[in-house]
Amino acid sequence: MDCVVAVDVGGTTIKGGLVARDGTILHFERRDTPRGADRVIAAVSAFVADLSRPRPGLRPVAVGLAVPGLVTPTHAVFSAAFGWRDVPVSSFTDVDLPVALGHDVRSAGEAELAYGGGGDDVLFLPIGTGIAGAVVLSGSLYGGAGGWAGQIGHIPVRPDGVACGCGQRGCLAAYASGGAIAARYGSGTAPDVVRRAAEGDARAAEVWSSAVDALALALATYTLLLDPARIVIGGGVSLAGDALLAPLRQRLAARLESRRPPEVVTSSLGTGAGLLGAGLLGWRSAA
Ligand SMILES: [Zn+2]
Repeated sequence: MDCVVAVDVGGTTIKGGLVARDGTILHFERRDTPRGADRVIAAVSAFVADLSRPRPGLRPVAVGLAVPGLVTPTHAVFSAAFGWRDVPVSSFTDVDLPVALGHDVRSAGEAELAYGGGGDDVLFLPIGTGIAGAVVLSGSLYGGAGGWAGQIGHIPVRPDGVACGCGQRGCLAAYASGGAIAARYGSGTAPDVVRRAAEGDARAAEVWSSAVDALALALATYTLLLDPARIVIGGGVSLAGDALLAPLRQRLAARLESRRPPEVVTSSLGTGAGLLGAGLLGWRSAA
C-alpha cells in the first residue's frame, strides 16, 4: 500500500508516522524534541530516514513535514521556539522522495477540515507547548499578508501581565499554553494540574482558572472580530475535556452578552491533527 511519511515537529515531542491517503495512520512513533536548532534539524532528518525504510506491505511515496513559526513551501523561515532562520527544506531530509514543508497549525487545521468536523468559519486552536490558531474564513485557511495570521497565542490578555517568550507581556500563551500552565503551577504537566484542580488542590485550581479566563478573553476578542461558527480546541490541553469546555463556554458567553457565542468543542482528532496535517502535505507533493 502507498503511504506518506508524516512528521509533525512540536516544541516537546516530534510525532512521526506513515499515513494512508484516506488519513488512516498506519504507523506512529513519538520522540522527544532536542534543544537547539541544529539538533532539532538533525533529529527530524534521522526520523524521516527511519520512517522511509521499507516495511512489509507499505511503500512511502512522499514526505510531509509540519513545523512551527513562519514557513514557506521551500524554507522554515523563522521559529522563536527553535531559534532557526531560513532553513531550506533540503536540510531536514535527504531521502529520495518528494518533500513538502508546511506550517504545523495550518496543516493541522486542514486535517481538521478534511477528517474532523469541518465548517466554513472556524477557528482551530491547538493548545500544546504553545498556542497558535488556524483561521478558516469562508471555507479557506487564512495565512495573512506574510504568513503570520493566527498568532492568537500572543494576543495580550493582561496588558501588564507576566513575561512571554515572544518578548511581550501578558500574552494568552503565557497563561493558557500547556507549558505555561505547568510552569505557573511549578511541577508536573498541564494534565497533572487539571487533575489536581479536580482533586481540590487550591493552587492548581487557581492556575487552571486563570488559564480558562485568559482563553475566554482571547476567544471573545476573536469572536467579535471574525464571528466564527465554531471554535475547535485541539492539542494536549484539549484532552481535559469537560474540565476545559464547561467553564470556557460559560466564561466566553459571559463576555459576549450582545450576541450568541460560537460553539466551542474539542477536536475529534485529539492530538492527531498535526500528524494528519503533515500527511496531507505529503500527499499533495506525491506524484
Ligand atoms: Zn507572547
